[in-house]
Amino acid sequence: MPTITSYLQQVQSWTIDPETFIQQTIQQIQKSDLNSFIRVHDQFISSHFDELASREFHSAPIGIKDNMMLTGEISSCASKMLEHYVAPYTATCCQKLIDKWFLPIWKTNMDEFAMGSSTEHSYFWPTINPHWINRMPWWSSGGSAAAVASWLCIAALWTDTGGSIRQPSSLCGIVGFKPTYGKISRYWVQSLSSSLDQVGTLTQTVHDAEILLSIMAGEDENDLQTLNPHTNTSSSHTFTAEKPKIAIPNEIFTFSLDPRVEALFRSKVDILISSWFQVDFIDFPLLRHVWSLYYILMSAELTSNLWRFDGMRFWCQKAGLDYTDIRSQAFWKEVKKRLMLWNYVVLHKNYDKYYKPALKSRQQLTNQFSKLFENYDAVMTPTTPAPASNLGSKTANSLQMYLEDLYTTPANLAWLPAISLPMWTVDENWEKLPVGIQLMWKQWWDEDLLHLAWKLESII
Ligand code: GLN
Repeated sequence: MPTITSYLQQVQSWTIDPETFIQQTIQQIQKSDLNSFIRVHDQFISSHFDELASREFHSAPIGIKDNMMLTGEISSCASKMLEHYVAPYTATCCQKLIDKWFLPIWKTNMDEFAMGSSTEHSYFWPTINPHWINRMPWWSSGGSAAAVASWLCIAALWTDTGGSIRQPSSLCGIVGFKPTYGKISRYWVQSLSSSLDQVGTLTQTVHDAEILLSIMAGEDENDLQTLNPHTNTSSSHTFTAEKPKIAIPNEIFTFSLDPRVEALFRSKVDILISSWFQVDFIDFPLLRHVWSLYYILMSAELTSNLWRFDGMRFWCQKAGLDYTDIRSQAFWKEVKKRLMLWNYVVLHKNYDKYYKPALKSRQQLTNQFSKLFENYDAVMTPTTPAPASNLGSKTANSLQMYLEDLYTTPANLAWLPAISLPMWTVDENWEKLPVGIQLMWKQWWDEDLLHLAWKLESII
């Protein structure tokens, strides 16, 4: 599968005929047994195909997470609750791509309402990791990541609330980019946790992420978070003149970091030091608690966002079922678990104990990152503590699953842009395993972050 850039070059030099390319890709999807797609929008393809020659991106096929709306198409959020829900509008981020004539025709699999990291919580089926084809069973890694990594689409749009772009990218060996909170509109994208959600991209290269960002970023009066003076401005690549300074928090080595990932990460640090980077190990004690802050705050917001799913408006009413029955039947267990977590957190005696301190600590975290960025250009960590594990191995113990989010949640809590780049290791059987290296930079410095990532892409 070509990258966006090479696809355009090949279309322009007549090496690729878009129509044939799309048909071939659809055939590949039909043959694929990765379960990365929930559905292909055949009607959308046939009704829009004639226009493709005239537009800039010649129908470059991209995958769309199933929580992003496309007018007239089912957008289920991989939930039984929305299994038959047909969207009345198109999400702004998708519309901007359609206007440039990308073809967002495939709805990719996800965890129900985006809760989880592995797609094992999808109402439909788990997605298979394309790099673990010889290992049964597999850990699944997000429909879009699997689709891009297995070349079933050129790129994909995804949402990231606590790492859902970066973790699957890391485990599938591709580039996952979460922009600054408010950089891309989330209008007609189903919310999980409104103060943490951000639309971002899964691509084969950093340059492709840059292309998609430049099209989708910008103000949208329907998403107030984008009405920020910085949303429309591109940051400049100020660091190029100097030696980039990268900070690595010592705390990341005290978490449950897999020794293979640690060894690989340290070897990449050595490469950077021997190139033109200054790398310092720093103390950032608050990072130890970030993961619990995330689960307290996320569950609070998701509870508000899921109120509207009462079975009256979004699920075909069945006689004799009341509100409780409907929610019990149409939500799956992970969603229910998180709704219960929130009820526990807001119990009279727990509100002051958990929720208020979590809000306060989030502010402290943001302040500490701002202070750190006075002296450093970027913060670097592994993206996930371990390579992909076996399907089912973490579902029985939610805590094990939630620990996957150790390195990715800080960027969401502090509203920072972050990117995961692939690095590769081998296991005891000499099978290649993808894991990611994560970079975070200060708010609104998305283009700088991408520029730095682009430099690193060729080194690591
Ligand atoms: N693993 C995180 C969670 O389950 C990530 C969610 C996300 O980014 N959509 O909450």
